[in-house]
Amino acid sequence: MTAPPHPPSADLHARLAAAAASVAQQGLAALLVTPGPDLRYLTGYDAKALERLTCLVVPAAGEPVLVAPALERAAAEASPVSALGLPVRTWEETDDPYALVAAAVGSAAVDGVVAVDNRMWAEKVLRLQAAMPRARQVPGSVVLRELRMRKTEDEVAALERAGVAIDRVHELVPTLLRAGRTEREVGRDIADAILAAGHVQVDFVIVGSGPNGASPHHEVSDRVIQPGDPVVVDIGGTMPDGYCSDETRTYCVGDPPADFLAYYGALQEAQQAAVAVVRPGVTCEQVDAAARDVLTAAGFGAAFIHRTGHGIGLETHEEPYIVAGNTEPLAVGMAFSVEPGVYLPGRHGARIEDIVVCGADGAIRLNHRPHALQVV
Ligand code: ZN
Ligand code: ZN
Repeated sequence: MTAPPHPPSADLHARLAAAAASVAQQGLAALLVTPGPDLRYLTGYDAKALERLTCLVVPAAGEPVLVAPALERAAAEASPVSALGLPVRTWEETDDPYALVAAAVGSAAVDGVVAVDNRMWAEKVLRLQAAMPRARQVPGSVVLRELRMRKTEDEVAALERAGVAIDRVHELVPTLLRAGRTEREVGRDIADAILAAGHVQVDFVIVGSGPNGASPHHEVSDRVIQPGDPVVVDIGGTMPDGYCSDETRTYCVGDPPADFLAYYGALQEAQQAAVAVVRPGVTCEQVDAAARDVLTAAGFGAAFIHRTGHGIGLETHEEPYIVAGNTEPLAVGMAFSVEPGVYLPGRHGARIEDIVVCGADGAIRLNHRPHALQVV
């Protein structure tokens, strides 16, 4: 079954209403959102980010409106914007769209606070500032962080479909990894498989063989995979509805080296331990500590050089971040990765990553490929 390209409009209505309520509650003049994940979240409109201004205005008082170039009207109306009943106010090539936005915000912009989406281009931020010179700007996350971090049932279902799709790709990986092939050749096949599995976009393909596995964000290179190489394969894409996948498994081409087996078991245990502590009220840093404590006890704490995970949704990396110092308590609907790793520079590395959702009774895993070392 193919996924619906956009979330149902009932969900969008609720999101837009919640954003408007938050704007009013916080005493903001307005929330301004240009093309990007926040706009897609609130309206379902996957608009292209262009130099011409498209901007959703969610004012404290009055109805939200989408300001868009006249030539983008058809595209906007082909999106869920129409079903939402969101008015589209277009501007012609010689109009000043920033003045239109300022007019939509109204008098509240005078000495008020305007939230601008976190991914807005600087040139637009600055021109909005010039159009509303007495308003103070704050990041749009003051409104959107709370909303986007807790996924609705529909969003969890979307992330589940993304999880199934990327599981399917990992199922194929053992047939692609062979001594004598380069990381780039394997990576190309994986990218094709990501699209064949139902994603509309390949977001990243990491094939870290041998010593390249010790660099967490290595992508691919022309290195030829050698017999006995552990290979870190971390892959993800975007589904038609905008939700992202992200899953890592570590494989071994032929017999694994002894110094790899010395930590792989502890890594499996660390991932398991972190997933096991997930439940509402547990803090993000406690999840990080659960993984880290296992690796530290096994003597590999210093080799685990990154945070344990990141939130995921319409972006691959979003709140909440599973990292020491983040005292945010988990809540039902939060979706994030649990991905401890061990990295030994010059030798090899390993990472195991699953996406989980915080449920009322604990973690719900969205990836289901085996964790046991797959020797190919
Ligand atoms: Zn990943
Ligand atoms: Zn990740």
